[in-house]
Amino acid sequence: MSTDAAQPQLNWVFLGPPGVGKGTYATRAAKAFGIPHIATGDLIRAEIAAGTDMGKQMKAIVNSGKLLPDAMVQEVLQARLAKGRAEGERGFLLDGFPRTRAQAEQLVQSVDVGLVLNMSLREEVLVEKCMGRRLCRHCGKNYNIADIYLPASGGRPEIIMPPLSPPPECAPHLETRADDTEPVIRHRLEVYKREATPVEDFFRQRGLLVDFEITAGIPETLPYLMPLLQSYVGRRANEPPVKA
Ligand SMILES: [Zn+2]
Repeated sequence: MSTDAAQPQLNWVFLGPPGVGKGTYATRAAKAFGIPHIATGDLIRAEIAAGTDMGKQMKAIVNSGKLLPDAMVQEVLQARLAKGRAEGERGFLLDGFPRTRAQAEQLVQSVDVGLVLNMSLREEVLVEKCMGRRLCRHCGKNYNIADIYLPASGGRPEIIMPPLSPPPECAPHLETRADDTEPVIRHRLEVYKREATPVEDFFRQRGLLVDFEITAGIPETLPYLMPLLQSYVGRRANEPPVKA
């Protein structure tokens, strides 16, 4: 398959805290715009599973509970991006990367990033949503029993997120993940905020960051997200919209 030379390159990054639904939105957007959804976590798992020298080193570090060094994550990611360029991919949608300012700097040096979508959700909603997660131990499907409604207040929008309820056959087999307790969730969010703030600032200073607050469930949010993304096809976030 050859790439139409007139098609603009879409090099996009999605940022967002755990529980915001970033993976789901990234999957849907990547499919809609014909670009690969690249999650560095998946690349690392694949490298480890393939048992390469790099994979073995990564496995040892991950098993010791340490974070992988930037250089290693970069190497795996750059190899994946180079493969995509060689195969004529139209761009990429990065999910879960960059995690640090150093990674962000290296990324913009190696590729022309057009848009960084910074997804957010009010913290109390993130906590409630994470606490509502349920896994069916029978079939492995994920559900969410949190039924969220927050009225608009102090200039903040109303938030309505209906539950993703299990069918009757799964209902007796639901379990909560051991690390989905409120203190653990709040700690995860704090760690995320601490790590993400310098990354957000870096992209904001370059005019590439677009904030996107989620106020509803996935089916209600997609009709807002897709046209927003469409408006960035062929332009960088800091450029004015292209007049049709
Ligand atoms: Zn089930």
